[in-house]
Amino acid sequence: MVSPDAVLQLELDTRQRQSRYRQRKILQSPQGVEVLVDGRRCLGFSSNDYLGLANHPALIAAFQQASNQYGVGSGASHLVSGHGTEHQALEEELAAFTGRPRALLFSTGYMANVGVIRALMGQGDLVVQDKLNHASLLDGGFLCRAQFERYAHGKGTAAQALLAGNSAQRKLLATDGVFSMDGDLADLPTLADIADQNNAWLLVDDAHGFGVLGESGRGICEHFAMDINRLPILVGTLGKSFGTFGAFVAGSEVLIESLIQFARTYIYTTALPPAVAAASRVALTLIDRESWRREKLQGLIAHFQQGAAERGIPVMASSTPIQPVLIGDDKNVVTMGEYLLKAGFWTGAIRPPTVPVGSARLRITLTAEHEVAQLDALLDTLAVALKTLGSDTE
Ligand SMILES: *Cc1c(COP(=O)(O)O)cnc(C)c1O
Repeated sequence: MVSPDAVLQLELDTRQRQSRYRQRKILQSPQGVEVLVDGRRCLGFSSNDYLGLANHPALIAAFQQASNQYGVGSGASHLVSGHGTEHQALEEELAAFTGRPRALLFSTGYMANVGVIRALMGQGDLVVQDKLNHASLLDGGFLCRAQFERYAHGKGTAAQALLAGNSAQRKLLATDGVFSMDGDLADLPTLADIADQNNAWLLVDDAHGFGVLGESGRGICEHFAMDINRLPILVGTLGKSFGTFGAFVAGSEVLIESLIQFARTYIYTTALPPAVAAASRVALTLIDRESWRREKLQGLIAHFQQGAAERGIPVMASSTPIQPVLIGDDKNVVTMGEYLLKAGFWTGAIRPPTVPVGSARLRITLTAEHEVAQLDALLDTLAVALKTLGSDTE
């Protein structure tokens, strides 16, 4: 018999040869602009803590106070005995924030997406998704046993054709609001029309939109000023601009009750620690009240796009804090990432299968805590690094 290790080692070797081997660095400080990573002080440009709340004193205080009051573990799933005061309050506040009748907490965004799709769709149904949707939406599509089709990124006409040419009774159109590796927005008004015309339900995962998009941070719905009835199933996460952990689905009374009954990733898992819910409640008030964070971020985004253009840096067009610099080759993106880290900038080196082959990129993320001078320093270093890379590969 060939041992598992012998078989697996071959796959690891292949991944190594392709320059796609993943290695974790150790973060020795809180998230923030100045981080300590693998013993090196550098500027962080790779977290999703867009509003700079992950290490905010008010969140920490709420977390501590709730742990004193409720302990650490929730002790059970929501349906058994783990659903506490803080969870309930957070759900009510998230419902109000999103302007929906109800919201339901999930332990992660990954579980929310898989759980919702599997709860709503099954054999004989049709699920249609953008090819660049987050892995958790795609996995929901695979796991739910419905017919699952994907359309080329952003191609509404392709989504329309897939939905129109299918006679399934129940159809779901699911999309990221902001695409996590590209930073671009889904054309929601068009997708909502397509869903309407084809009698399909629209699910929007606004993991990167909440807190950031819209004047009051209510995400992509607010950005497009859309009637909530056109977006009946809304998924949000707490691990990004909220600076905490967890996720939620917002929607109608009937949708939420259905998820409580049928979403397996809701039912069969331990509830979030109550202190995480308490900290998330404070994050929500800061998102609501401190619009300066969004305004500052928008200024930084514009500055970064312009600065990159001036220096000939191939930044992808993006109006969100996700600012990817397209490199293409897997080995080159690793080289670039290492170069930048040595120079004191921590960025994400994103390679296939996370992104399509030939589109490896540095995923640079901006937060409201960054300063213009820090962006300029990164841009200057990036320009030099790209030049060095160019002369090395010629
Ligand atoms: C991060 C992310 C998720 C997963 O959320 P977690 O809470 O980290 O599991 C889901 N969808 C999108 C679009 C994301 O970017």
